[in-house]
Amino acid sequence: MGKFTAYKVQLASLPDGHHEQDFEIGTEFFRNMENRDIISSDIYVHLDLVKKNDLYDCTFTVKGVLQIPCDRCLDPLDHEVDTEYHVVVKYGDNYDDGADNLLTIPYSNSYLNVAYILNDTILLTIPMRHVHPLGKCNRAMAAALNKHRSAGDDDEMAAALDEVDAELAEDPQD
Ligand SMILES: [Zn+2]
Repeated sequence: MGKFTAYKVQLASLPDGHHEQDFEIGTEFFRNMENRDIISSDIYVHLDLVKKNDLYDCTFTVKGVLQIPCDRCLDPLDHEVDTEYHVVVKYGDNYDDGADNLLTIPYSNSYLNVAYILNDTILLTIPMRHVHPLGKCNRAMAAALNKHRSAGDDDEMAAALDEVDAELAEDPQD
């Protein structure tokens, strides 16, 4: 069974009318997406699909909680996800996702795999700057990480810590 088999939505054989499907987005989902920035995930997705006139009108309701590292101290930060994504899917000669909320898939696909749609929808809810509320950061952690860097660590960690330094310099009062 493929990594994202659970995210297939059958389209071609679907009769007209209202259809529903549920998906779970756990931590494993983001590991399979090669995304290391998500510490853990507990998200549920409900799909309402209405097929009419060869159009598949899809509304995804996405709810749950992600844990992501705080930009400032790298400690886990709860990020609540409560969003909706609407897309109309239709069949055409070629795959085309150029239009907003309209997706054309080739006739050869009997189903649509929504894993990437859900991945993008969830990641878009994460703000550019995500930090603990004022005063809630783990100072000791930030300091320890700083020390760690002085001992010479990999570039990725160093870059992350430069950001921490920048944040601390920006907000000396906090
Ligand atoms: Zn923090």
